[in-house]
Amino acid sequence: MAEQDQGVPKFKLVLVGDGGTGKTTFVKRHQTGEFEKRYIATIGVEVHPLEFVTNKGKILFNAWDTAGQEKFGGLRDGYYIQGQCAIIMFDVTSRITYKNVPNWHRDLVRVCENIPIVLCGNKVDIKERKVKAKTITFHRKKNLQYYDISAKSNYNFEKPFLWLARKLTGEPNLEFTEAPALAPPEVQVDSGLMQQYNQEMAAAAAMPLPEEDDDL
Ligand code: GDP
Ligand code: MG
Repeated sequence: MAEQDQGVPKFKLVLVGDGGTGKTTFVKRHQTGEFEKRYIATIGVEVHPLEFVTNKGKILFNAWDTAGQEKFGGLRDGYYIQGQCAIIMFDVTSRITYKNVPNWHRDLVRVCENIPIVLCGNKVDIKERKVKAKTITFHRKKNLQYYDISAKSNYNFEKPFLWLARKLTGEPNLEFTEAPALAPPEVQVDSGLMQQYNQEMAAAAAMPLPEEDDDL
């Protein structure tokens, strides 16, 4: 960690979600984090220090990313312990990854009882979207924030971090004042389609929640 980072508030961010949803791709977009990441061999975790510059000073997220252990079941408690915020990711082109969100949430809150959590639906650049806005209700039941993202295009990259930074600092007026260096987009999103998704999400937010106590 660079000398000038002494005194910057740091938060452990736990990344969870099914294998293949794009967690590693997402966390690697932030170029200085990718450059300064470190590998904890004993638990098989890569920690990416992601720094953001805000109107309230710098903030650093130590984003924990697995080496793929989630593909073989749950993660060990050591992965979650002392987590201060989290991102749960699913893939909008894969329904099963959304169905598994309640399991990731349960495992997470079992260890991290009351932390700010963002749910992210990744890969919205792909035209054949399977998990539509009206299906995405889990965040409303559990008081999480939700964002559509596309790691490969950088679409909404900063949104989850901004929301978490505001919660963690208790500063609702916190803003990012510098764009972090991001890897160049590998795909483009269709801005008209993103606008349509935003409208669908807003319309869905106005609907009553489905009654089933099935977690979806
Ligand atoms: P992880 O297992 O959750 O860490 O997922 P990875 O980051 O390894 O990504 C799994 C696959 O999804 C890889 O082939 C990525 O290139 C692809 N992927 C990740 N994010 C995106 C995205 O935003 N859009 C598209 N089209 N593919 C993505
Ligand atoms: Mg990964």
